[in-house]
Amino acid sequence: MLFRQLFEPRSSTYTDLIGCERAGEAALIDPVRETVEGDLEQLSRLGLSLRWTVETHIHADHVTGAAALRERTGCACAVPEKSGAAHADRAIREGEAIRIGTLDLHPLYTPGHTDDHHCYFLDYGGQGRVFTGDALLIDGCGRTDFQNGDAETLYRSVHEKIFSLADDTLIFPGHDYQQRRVSSVAQERDRNDRLGGAKTIDEFVALMANLNLPRPKLIDIAVPANRECGGAH
Ligand code: FE
Repeated sequence: MLFRQLFEPRSSTYTDLIGCERAGEAALIDPVRETVEGDLEQLSRLGLSLRWTVETHIHADHVTGAAALRERTGCACAVPEKSGAAHADRAIREGEAIRIGTLDLHPLYTPGHTDDHHCYFLDYGGQGRVFTGDALLIDGCGRTDFQNGDAETLYRSVHEKIFSLADDTLIFPGHDYQQRRVSSVAQERDRNDRLGGAKTIDEFVALMANLNLPRPKLIDIAVPANRECGGAH
């Protein structure tokens, strides 16, 4: 397996590249439109052809690179079924793995940040990795105040679908605003300031209700564009 975390600095987004050397195929989780050229260079340097773009959810802070990558490579765009995105090639559902050569990416339905959100679990050589999008960040989590977000639902998703994984499962978040790259299930379960330790569901709901975050700058552009796989402007 080949693995790279690519970073888009404006929205602090990680795009995860997962490649199967044997098949010469790759998938990109959460590509960003601004970094499509860099993603393509990285793929060609690794000798991989792009088979899939995979979204964790409909993003509000950046436009996906999915449509641009499909135009350039002929890859297929996979989007959670619940996103209702137009022009998607594959509707993602929990229980239906996405194949990247010999690798299987397992969708885990994790609503709460948005109602379409999925994380992706990959086991390679006994080492589990989970790509958590905005459901769980390192020492944090995505907000729950738009796109049908719901704090109680997010708490349950994280506890039932992520904290139930093996302790040493590596966590790769969809964003990090300090460019931290990786954590583990044990670390977040113990130390995540919002969701870990002894934090109860009521404490989490109260905390999320009092964040008073500003409206994302790009939401009115990003959400409609992402509902068309990033093809619209
Ligand atoms: Fe998000």
